Amino acid sequence: LAKRIEGIDKNVWVEFVGLALEYKPVNLGQGFPDFAAPPHVVDALAKTVTSSDPMMHQYTRGYGHPRLVKALATMYGGLINREINPNTEVLCTVGAYDALFCTFMGLINPGDEVIIVEPYFDCYAPMTRLAGGVPVFIPVRPNQSKVDSTKDFVLDPDELASKFTDKTKAIIFNTPNNPLGKVFHRKELEMIAKLCIEHDVICISDEVYEWLVYDGIEHIRIASLPGMWDRTITVGSAGKTFSVTGWKEAAAIAFETEIARLDKPDSYFKELQSMLFEKRERMAKLLTDAGLIPIIPEGGYFMMADATDFARDIDLNDPELGDGQRDYKLVRYLTKKKGIGAIPPSAFYNPENKHLGANYIRFCFIKEESTLDKAEKIIKEMM
Ligand code: PMP
Ligand code: GLN
Repeated sequence: LAKRIEGIDKNVWVEFVGLALEYKPVNLGQGFPDFAAPPHVVDALAKTVTSSDPMMHQYTRGYGHPRLVKALATMYGGLINREINPNTEVLCTVGAYDALFCTFMGLINPGDEVIIVEPYFDCYAPMTRLAGGVPVFIPVRPNQSKVDSTKDFVLDPDELASKFTDKTKAIIFNTPNNPLGKVFHRKELEMIAKLCIEHDVICISDEVYEWLVYDGIEHIRIASLPGMWDRTITVGSAGKTFSVTGWKEAAAIAFETEIARLDKPDSYFKELQSMLFEKRERMAKLLTDAGLIPIIPEGGYFMMADATDFARDIDLNDPELGDGQRDYKLVRYLTKKKGIGAIPPSAFYNPENKHLGANYIRFCFIKEESTLDKAEKIIKEMM
C-alpha cells in the first residue's frame, strides 16, 4: 500500500457493510432507503438510457452536463437569492464523496489546518490527511445536562474561535448532521461565517441532507450569508436528494450479460471489435488521402497520424491558432477553420518529451459512417 493511505485503508463502512452482507440482519446500519425510488426519477433515468440520441450516452462537459449545471444553478440561485453562473460556479462530481475529495485535494496544501466539527462524516479526516492537511477537531457539546433534542448541541463560541490559527485553511461542517441530525441554526452559521471572514478561511458545507428538516426548522445555506459566497463550497448529493444512493446495478446487468456470452459470436465485445476494424481501415485510408501518415493502431479507437507535411501552407502565427506546440495549432486550425475536431497528442507527454507528439494529430474513429463521410468530404475539399 502507498504510505499515504496507511491507517485509512479500512473504515467503518467496509466492516459493517460487509457484516450486513454476510449476516443479513434487519439492516438499520448504512444510510440508504430500502423503498422504491421515486417514479419520476426512475422515468428520467429510463428516458435517458433509452434515448436514441447517441450523445446521451457519451462524454459530456467535464465540469458537469450543461443541462444539469443549468438546473442546479437555477434551483440554488432561487434558494439563496443570487444569480449563479452554471458554467463557473457549479461542479458535478460522482456523488458527494467525490465532491469532498475534489474539494480537499483542490484546496488543501501540506501543513494547512482544517477545522472539523464533530461528530463528522468519517471521510473528512482521512481526506484532509490525504491532502497533507492537519485536522483540528471541535465537537458540538450539549448545553445542558438533560438533552432531548439536537437543538441542545451547540458550538462553544470561544472554543471555536480558539481553533482558528494562521495555519487554518478551511472549516468543514455538516448540516443537517450525520450522525447527530443537528441542523445548524442561523446564529451558529453567522458565528462560523464571521470567523471565516476574519481569518480568511474557506468554508466547506456538506449539505447532502438539505431536504430533510423537520419541525418547521429552516435549512440555512451558509453560502447565502453576507460575504460567504466567495469562500464557501456547498456539497450536495443527488443520491440523497432522490433516494437513490446506489444506481450502479444497470452496469452490473450489462456485465452479467457479457459474461454469459464472452467468447460467443453475439458478444458485444466481439461485435464492437469487428465494427471498429472496418472503421480503422476507413480512417487510415481517409488520412492517407489527406496527406497524413497514419500509425495503424493494434488496439483502441484512436489513430495517430504524422502531420509533418500536412497543412504546410497555414500560418502557425495566426493569433486565432493560439500558442503551444505545432499539434495544438494544427488541431485548432482544423477545428476552427475546417470543422474537424481532433486532439493534439503532445498533451500526453511530459514537457521535455512534448516534441515526440508535436508533429502528430490524434483522430478518434469510433464514429458513425455518416460522421466519417462528413470528415472525408471536408478532407477532400482541403486537398
Ligand atoms: N456527506 C455525508 C454527510 C453523508 O452522509 C454521505 C453519505 N451518503 C456523503 C457525504 C456521501 O454522499 P454520496 O452518496 O452522494 O457520495
Ligand atoms: N452516508 C451513509 C451513512 O452514513 C453511507 C456511507 C457509506 O456507505 N460509505 O450511513
